Amino acid sequence: MVEIAQYKTERGDTFAKLAYRHQVEEAYLRRLNHLSSSMYLKPGTVVEIPEQKGSAPYEKKGECLYDYGWRELEADRQHYLPGIASEKIGTSVLGKPIWLFRIGKGKKKVFFSAAWHGNEWLNTWLLMRFLQELQVKNDSRQIWHGIDICMLLREVTLFVVPLVNPDGVEIVQEGAEALEEKKESILQINGGMMNFQHWSANAAGVDLNHQWPAGWKEEAWESPDRPFPRHYGGEAPLTEPEAKAVYQLTMEEEFSQIIALHSQGEEIYWGYRRHEPEGSEELAARLARASSFKAIRTADSKAGYKDWFIKTFRRPGFTVETGIGQNPLPMEASARIWVTSVPLLLESCTFPNYSSE
Ligand SMILES: [Zn+2]
Repeated sequence: MVEIAQYKTERGDTFAKLAYRHQVEEAYLRRLNHLSSSMYLKPGTVVEIPEQKGSAPYEKKGECLYDYGWRELEADRQHYLPGIASEKIGTSVLGKPIWLFRIGKGKKKVFFSAAWHGNEWLNTWLLMRFLQELQVKNDSRQIWHGIDICMLLREVTLFVVPLVNPDGVEIVQEGAEALEEKKESILQINGGMMNFQHWSANAAGVDLNHQWPAGWKEEAWESPDRPFPRHYGGEAPLTEPEAKAVYQLTMEEEFSQIIALHSQGEEIYWGYRRHEPEGSEELAARLARASSFKAIRTADSKAGYKDWFIKTFRRPGFTVETGIGQNPLPMEASARIWVTSVPLLLESCTFPNYSSE
C-alpha cells in the first residue's frame, strides 16, 4: 500500500523537485493533485505526496532530474565545489548574486557562460556538473575524453559563469511567484499571461544577449521597442546589471576565447562581420567534430555577447546552441546535451592562447 502524506509547499518548490525528493514520477504527482503540466506550484499549497519507500525511479545517471536554478547552484557551490574558487561578480535586477567559478592555474584564460536566457537553464546544470567532474578528474589524475585533466589545468584557467540570468530562470521555473516587487510590470510585459515558459529576458524585460555594443542599433531597429519576454535590447547597450557584470569581467580578464552557451539548434556560430581571427573557422570545425553540432559562420547576428567579444578583442568567440527542439527543452534533453557538449567544452580548452599575441 502506498501511504499518502500531505506537504505544504514553500517558495522554490516545483513539481519536479518534489518528485525528485520523494522519488516518484512528476506526472504521477501532478495527476494525484489534479494539476496540469502547465501549472506552477504556489507556495503554501497543500499537496499530496505518495511515500513510496525503497523505489528509486530517478537514479538515472547523467541526467538533470529537476529544475536547476540559483538555489541549486548555491547548494552545489557550497557542497560540491568547495575546491573551486567562486566569486560574486554582480547582482541581478531582483538582487540575486551572479557567480563566477574559477578552476586551473594556466596562463590561457578561457571563459564559458550560460543561461543568458531564462528558459535555457539546462546549460547551468551542464556547466556546474562539468566543473564538478573537472575537479574530480583533476584530483584523481584522470584522462577525460583523451585529455589529461591535470595537465590541462596547468595550462588553462577556466572562468565559468553558469547562470548569467538568475531572475529569468526563476521566472520560467516558478512563474508569478518569482516576480517579487516586479510582479505588476512583469505581468504587463508578459501580456497578462501567467505562463512564462517562453520567457528569455531578465526581470526588466531586457534580452541580455541583445545588449552588446556590436551592431546594437541595427538589432534594436529590428526588435521589440519596449520591455518584452524576448529580444528587446534595452534603451541603450549594457544598461542591465547582469550584462554589466559580464562586461566588467571580460574587460578585466581579457580572455583568450569565449563560449556563450544557448540551447537551440545544436549549432556553433563563430563569425561577426569578418572581425573574427583567421583561425576561427578551423576552431569551429574542431568544435563541430567534437560535438556533432553544425558550425555556421553567422546567422546575421548582432548585439550578442560573442559578437561584441569578437569585435573588441579580435579573438575567437562562439555561441554554442546545445540542444534541439523548442525552449524550454525537456529535462530528458540533458542526457544528450551532456554527451555532446562535454567533448566540445574540453576541445575548446586545447585551442592556442590568443591573448599572448
Ligand atoms: Zn539563448
